[in-house]
This record gives sequence, structure tokens and C-alpha cells, in this order.
Amino acid sequence: METHYRRLRTERNILMTPQGQPEGGDWNLDDQNRRTFREFAKEKPKVPPLPPPVKDPIVQEVAADVSKLFPQHPGQAANLWVPTTREGALDWLKLFLRQRLEKFGPWEDTMVDGETILFHSVLSPLLNLGLLTPLECIQGAEKAYRDGKAPLNSVEGFIRQILGWREFIHGIYWLKMPEYREVNFLGADRPLPKWAYTGETEMRCVSQAIHGAVDHAYNHHIQRLMVLGNYFLLGGYEPKAVLRWYTEMYLDAYDWVMVPNVLGMILFADGGFFATKPYAAGAAYQDKMGNHCASCRFDPKKKDGPDACPFHSLYWNFFGQHAKLFGKNPRIGMMVKIWEKKPSAEQKEIRQRAQRFLDAQ
Ligand SMILES: Cc1cc2nc3c(=O)[nH]c(=O)nc-3n(C[C@H](O)[C@H](O)[C@H](O)COP(=O)(O)OP(=O)(O)OC[C@H]3O[C@@H](n4cnc5c(N)ncnc54)[C@H](O)[C@@H]3O)c2cc1C
Ligand code: SF4
Repeated sequence: METHYRRLRTERNILMTPQGQPEGGDWNLDDQNRRTFREFAKEKPKVPPLPPPVKDPIVQEVAADVSKLFPQHPGQAANLWVPTTREGALDWLKLFLRQRLEKFGPWEDTMVDGETILFHSVLSPLLNLGLLTPLECIQGAEKAYRDGKAPLNSVEGFIRQILGWREFIHGIYWLKMPEYREVNFLGADRPLPKWAYTGETEMRCVSQAIHGAVDHAYNHHIQRLMVLGNYFLLGGYEPKAVLRWYTEMYLDAYDWVMVPNVLGMILFADGGFFATKPYAAGAAYQDKMGNHCASCRFDPKKKDGPDACPFHSLYWNFFGQHAKLFGKNPRIGMMVKIWEKKPSAEQKEIRQRAQRFLDAQ
């Protein structure tokens, strides 16, 4: 992705100096972004409210038809909260550039209980529907930087998502389909948990993400990847069932974006065609980046006992289960070594705990 991103920035002269160097000297400013919840709580950045949805008679009529024809579907069609016209989409983009882009970078990975959007753009449905073009979003962000309205770390972070990730994912889909849909490298076969459409689980981080999906048809990237994706990966959920769930739940769902993100990025079902390691994380990640643990019935620091966070046993069970596959992976082989050094009684206890938890879901 990085190579492709740098090539496109150079070819299209996006965020470059007249000498052909990346603006600011670095291609990647992630070290200034991705700040933790603790920093968020300290700084208390004000999250601007979104404008109320425009009551469009056509949208209302379609929403009424959808509710009548598909009464069993999760979510409420009448609650559509994003624009549906070109003019509305342009206003939505302008508002993001003016109000949220400035703080996009630092808080792009932060998760806050009750805050669905934070400083994200919610441009994906409009881009995917063709109401906006990727280039106009990128140029708008670059202009905000050049006019001194947004810092480089936020602007580079945002442009990286669209020019880097979005275009890259699009390429992967067309390169690997139709076989891509069938991949299942880890042999995962668990059916979805019974609370997949209600969010009625005691895991606060997971339930908050599912409520976001049911109520708004939206989660920001980290909730999709590091909360829900992580849970589905560690739990060994069947790739086709997970793909179907994501496709049903989100406002921006399109096959070309879902297939690589779900099968490649979260489930490692393609064996690492573009992700060099599975995005597996334990409770420490959730506790660092978000504040859901504070109101969860489980304790992220406990490893055993009834209050132990399930992510602990799921995480180690995953590495135990796939030790042969990941032992030589330079990025995560270390986790396999740690697993192998655990006494066999502890390994057995972790395996049983994970199994009991998953069987109850
Ligand atoms: C499991 C999973 C499923 C996803 N499914 C979709 C999907 O069906 N449709 C979709 O548009 N995005 C999908 N994404 C990518 C990304 O999560 C969403 O684009 C993003 O959360 C949309 O919110 P936003 O517009 O506020 O994004 P922002 O955080 O504001 O990012 C700006 C833009 O960058 C683009 N972008 C960022 N990351 C990606 C990515 N990995 N792939 C493609 N585009 C990206 C999007 O167009 C997004 O609007 C998925 C990610 C995961 C992990
Ligand atoms: S304690 Fe575990 S399950 Fe609960 S919110 Fe934290 S990470 Fe999620």
C-alpha cells in the first residue's frame, strides 16, 4: 500500500513540494496521529455536532417502502442521516473540511463511548455512490492545509485513507476476484454469534460497535477493524458469514470494498496477500485506545476468574491454534514464542476458557 500511495502522490502531485518531495519531508505522519483515549480525556477536544438530516420527500417515501417491504431488517430506514443529493454532498464535504479535518489525524484511532463519528468524515457512502469524487475530497483537504486551516498530520492522514487505502483496496478486488470470495486460509467455520444483530453482549466495546451499526449503519474504521474485526478473527468466525454481516450492516457497503477489507484485512482469510500480519489484539489495545472498558462488566486487566476480559483468552487461544502458521512471521512470530513458553497447564486453561466463552455466544 505504501509504495502505491507514494507513487500516486508523486504522479498526481498531491501534497508535494515544487522539488518533488513530500510536503513536510515525511511521507507518513502516523507518529503524530493515533492518540490514545487517555490523551483524549486530557485534551477534551470538542466534537462538533452533525447537521440535522434534510427531510427530503423522496427519501421519506423510499424509507417508508423499505420499512414496509423489509420489516425484519436491522436498523431504521427512516433514520437516514447523510445527504442524498450532489448539493447536499458538497455541503457535507465542506462542513467536514471546516469543522473536523483539523482534528482528524490525532483522534482517527480513538474510541469514545457514545461518540459514533468523532472527527471522521463519513464521506464513504457519498464517494461510493458517486455523489463526490475522491479527487475533490483530496484537493479540498490539500487546500485546507495550504490555506493554514488544517495541520499536515491530519491532512496527510486523511489523504492517505482515500488515495492510499481506498484506491489500493479497489485494485486488490479487481486483481483477485472472483476467487477471492472463496478464501479461508485459517479454516474458520464458526457461525455468527446470536447477538450479531442486536449487540446484546456483555462485551461493552463489541456491543457499542454493533449498536453504532444498527442505529446509524456506521462505525468508524477502528471499530470495524480492531473491535468487531478482531473479535471475528480471534473467534474463528466463518468468512462468508462475516462478509455477509458487514455487507448487511453498513451505509457504505459495496462488494469491492467489503471483500478485501473483510477477507483480507480483518480475517486474514487470504493468507496475507496484502496484510503482512493478522490484526489481532488483546484487551490492552481496547483499554488504551478507547474508554469502553471503564463501563464494561469485564476487567481488561484480569486474565482469569469470572471478570476476566474474554479478549485475553481469545487472543492467546488464537496464537496457540495457529502457531504453525505464524511461528515464522517476522511481525508476530514473537507472540507464538510467548505462547509456546507458557506452561501446558496454562495453555490448556486458556484453550478451555476461550472455547467455553465462544460456545456460549
Ligand atoms: C471490515 C471492514 C469493512 C469495511 N467496509 C467498507 C465498505 O463497505 N465501504 C467503504 O467505503 N469502506 C469500508 N471500510 C473502510 C473504512 O472503514 C470506511 O471507509 C470508513 O470507516 C468510512 O468512514 P468515514 O467515511 O468516516 O472514513 P474516514 O475515517 O473519514 O476516512 C476517509 C475515507 O477513506 C476511505 N477509506 C479509509 N480506509 C479505507 C479502507 N480500508 N478501504 C476503503 N476505503 C477506505 C473511505 O472512503 C473513507 O470515507 C471497511 C473497513 C473494514 C475494516
Ligand atoms: S473489558 Fe474487554 S470486553 Fe470489556 S470493553 Fe474492555 S476489551 Fe471490551
